[in-house]
Amino acid sequence: MKSITILGATGSIGLNTLDVIKQHQSAYEVIALTAHRQIDRLEALCLEWSPRYAVMADARAAEQLSQRLKKTDSPVQVLSGVEGLTFVASLAEVDFVMAAIVGSAGLLPTLAAAQAGKRVLLANKEALVMSGQLFMEAVRQHGAELLPIDSEHNAVFQCLPWENREWGVGNEALEVNRILLTASGGPFRTLPIEQLHDVTPEQACAHPNWNMGRKISVDSATMMNKGLEVIEAAWLFSVPSEKIEVILHPQSVIHSLVEYIDGSMLAQLGNPDMRTPIAYGLAWPKRISSGVPRLNLIEVAQLDFEALDLNRFPCLKLAYDAWLAGGTATTILNAANEVAVQAFLQKRLRFTAIPKVVETTLSQLSGHHPTSIDIILEDDAHARHLASEWVNRTDN
Ligand code: NAD
Ligand code: MG
Repeated sequence: MKSITILGATGSIGLNTLDVIKQHQSAYEVIALTAHRQIDRLEALCLEWSPRYAVMADARAAEQLSQRLKKTDSPVQVLSGVEGLTFVASLAEVDFVMAAIVGSAGLLPTLAAAQAGKRVLLANKEALVMSGQLFMEAVRQHGAELLPIDSEHNAVFQCLPWENREWGVGNEALEVNRILLTASGGPFRTLPIEQLHDVTPEQACAHPNWNMGRKISVDSATMMNKGLEVIEAAWLFSVPSEKIEVILHPQSVIHSLVEYIDGSMLAQLGNPDMRTPIAYGLAWPKRISSGVPRLNLIEVAQLDFEALDLNRFPCLKLAYDAWLAGGTATTILNAANEVAVQAFLQKRLRFTAIPKVVETTLSQLSGHHPTSIDIILEDDAHARHLASEWVNRTDN
């Protein structure tokens, strides 16, 4: 029996995780569930799963949840804030932590899980983009296990040889020529570029193949998601970014590929359903059923690939450049992107202004060597401030 904390339990990844666990209730025990401020949803999950702890990042929401649960005589202990999140991410009785908070809010609890030597099921790619060096050092120093849940990285993990799976050892995969990350192209792959100016949040969030939270949906539409994933792959697999390529694959059936020096390419295929990588992360090195319908290759019939047009997707280039710049440039990239995406979702910023906010913020700030979490948080705050100023200007 493995005990698990699910950070971000009310989100798309959190709920998919609970769905897989429901199919294997004798193997996994849910110890803690967390959410931002969705009281109704977390209350329903507490009543269904009876965890020992429920954490709401928002203190007022935590208070309300606590009062509601008391009325039902529920023994669930309600905690709040980032202290509550890091507490349940590092509890001695917890074996696995699903890191599925969206954005930078996931950084400290995910890092706490690594520092406590847990198996970290990493969905929260922003944590790695913000603080890859410190995060990988924490994994190594504290004997944590890092299982990528992002479908592309999970695919690469499955295609790499065993000896390259020692977390954070820095053992560059010498036999690997390239890692190919596949990208569906999102909802705007074929939209005439001049129409991108007027797209709405609803259109941006209508992903053709995946049903995800709103932030990652917008990131998929701008392709910043793939940029964050290039950085994520570079950290996870100790591979230089020249060896990481992105190709368009509209069907999202091949989740990524590894090309070896002998010309072999290994790929992982499956229906686009996050329960496959989640089940893999939960059971590794074994496998368990996930509830995902089998992939019918006859029905799929055809797999298409296309080169990527960086004029359509400038965010991808910004991410590669930030990675090459090093230091906290990727922290700055991530922070500016979070501000811009939120403003776009609130209809305060045009879709095409998202890369402009990121580029301007990166050009105005010089990054630092990320020797401590405080330096990372300072640069994150600074970048948010500058990006917000840009967004608040009326002429964007
Ligand atoms: P979501 O928006 O559906 O859920 C986010 C979760 O985080 C919710 O439980 C929410 O309550 C919580 N949260 C939000 N803001 C918070 C805050 N300030 N403090 C504490 N908790 C907060 O997002 P999602 O689609 O499940 O994505 C979660 C993470 O997984 C993201 O980092 C995303 O990039 C990554 N990911 C998602 C998918 C997917 O298919 N959804 C695929 C790959 C990677
Ligand atoms: Mg992905």
